[in-house]
Amino acid sequence: MTIEPISGLLATPTRIRTFDDDNGWRRFSTVCPFTRIARGRRRVQPHNVSWSHVKACGLAVLSRTARALQEAALPNSCAFCGTRLPVTVAPVCTACDRDLPRIAAACSRCGVPLATTEAGAASCGDCQRDPPPFVTTVAPLSYAFPVDAAIRALKFQRTLCYAAALGDVLLRSLPQLPPDIEALLPVPLHWRRQALRGFNQATELCRPLCRQAGFSILQQVARGRATPYQSGLDAQRRQRNLNAAFHVRDRIRARHVLIVDDVITTGATCRELARVLLDAGVAKVSALAVARA
Ligand SMILES: [Zn+2]
Ligand SMILES: [Zn+2]
Repeated sequence: MTIEPISGLLATPTRIRTFDDDNGWRRFSTVCPFTRIARGRRRVQPHNVSWSHVKACGLAVLSRTARALQEAALPNSCAFCGTRLPVTVAPVCTACDRDLPRIAAACSRCGVPLATTEAGAASCGDCQRDPPPFVTTVAPLSYAFPVDAAIRALKFQRTLCYAAALGDVLLRSLPQLPPDIEALLPVPLHWRRQALRGFNQATELCRPLCRQAGFSILQQVARGRATPYQSGLDAQRRQRNLNAAFHVRDRIRARHVLIVDDVITTGATCRELARVLLDAGVAKVSALAVARA
């Protein structure tokens, strides 16, 4: 009887016994060279490998080959400076991420930046006078270079690599939001504008949240009226521009919905969308945007 140490992926090296039993079977433990999974203390015949283990090895080899091919065909690089990165990480390097214009303190209801002295206050003066229809608004970055340029390039030049980089910023902001959010609602575009652009930038920003945090996207809300661009309009015209812009096509089961947008300027779009959701029976609405202007 021998005592052998095994390590591999196990957090703490374990000592197990290896010995032959009466039927010529051997208890042993190995680390598979393909999956790098310790096969544990199992009673298996030497050189007799289970079908499920063969399948696991095959899948591991396939996924590694696919990743190597992806690395060669579609190399990942930082969206802001072009530094080459592994395909498994978001396309923003540590240096560019550190330089992004982060908002140090913001109103928890509307996301407007606050002077650091006010950081202790839960909400800004405007929200205390006229509470918005959201529980929480999170917009981690200010609408300044390079975020403004990235959002414009995403929307108007179809530079989709920014969606992955900024979507990763949204993913890392999730801990600041209430934990009971059940579904995401990217601000809908009118079908004609979406057809011309080829995509909805808010939906693209949601992809890392769906893939890594497991959220689903609400499909029941549509933009029924093609509204002119909000940029260049004052707050009152923005609100008038949005009246009856959205409608709910089907019953919404989620109780807490998170509205996702690229940038919140006056908050008029999010307010209108939140009002439509609350009218449709949603209990709570929060908002998440990359930047707050
Ligand atoms: Zn970079
Ligand atoms: Zn506020």
